[in-house]
Amino acid sequence: MKTKLLYHTNSFTYECTATVVAVEGDDIALDATVFYPGGGGQMADRGTITWPGQDYPASVIAMHKRDEVVWHTLDYPPPSIGTEVVGTIDWDFRYQMMRTHTALHILCGVIWQEFGVQVTGGQMYPDRARMDFAMENLDKERIVYIEEKVNAAIEADYPIRVYSLPREKAFAIPDLVRTKINLLPPEIEEIRIVEIVGLDLQADGGTHVNHTHEVGGIHITKTENKGRINKRLEIMLDSLQ
Ligand SMILES: [Zn+2]
Repeated sequence: MKTKLLYHTNSFTYECTATVVAVEGDDIALDATVFYPGGGGQMADRGTITWPGQDYPASVIAMHKRDEVVWHTLDYPPPSIGTEVVGTIDWDFRYQMMRTHTALHILCGVIWQEFGVQVTGGQMYPDRARMDFAMENLDKERIVYIEEKVNAAIEADYPIRVYSLPREKAFAIPDLVRTKINLLPPEIEEIRIVEIVGLDLQADGGTHVNHTHEVGGIHITKTENKGRINKRLEIMLDSLQ
């Protein structure tokens, strides 16, 4: 059993029809989904699942992915196996998440290019995010400089490409190794790559926008010392006009 991850091929798909392939309590598994189940610092999608005969659309209140199957927890008695359903994500929430996620890639790319330091962790929310870097010095001047560089990259409107590479090919790219690609389980043969052309390259399962301009703009709102060589940066996205 395997769920087709429609968000992997097109993160702009917000709705799909699918068939229920398994039911466990209030959880249903589908043969295909547009819902991102969470992970890699990106929050799970919200939305609804509908099918004929409902009193009201079922909300997806939690999600998880087990092996190759995506499970949707419903606030409604689940339909039986074989039912055809329509899944629709909360697009405003997702698009905001895609912008924030892409902003973090730009931040990583800028910091790697300018200072050659690695990311040590991160978390995203719809309009803000934090990311930790193995950095010794993060003074005021540097913060201003980083913010300017990130906003310049957004302005420059770099295209973002998503594709898969065979494991050996991906492992041969020096830029990918810094993102701890070597921690990926050995059974994964195809690596999904997200590339901001000319700026950043990562092995990544999340959802992103197609052009950096879509991010809009960012501000660094807070920095924190998390150890001698660990610095936390918090960013806030400008709202789109
Ligand atoms: Zn990503």
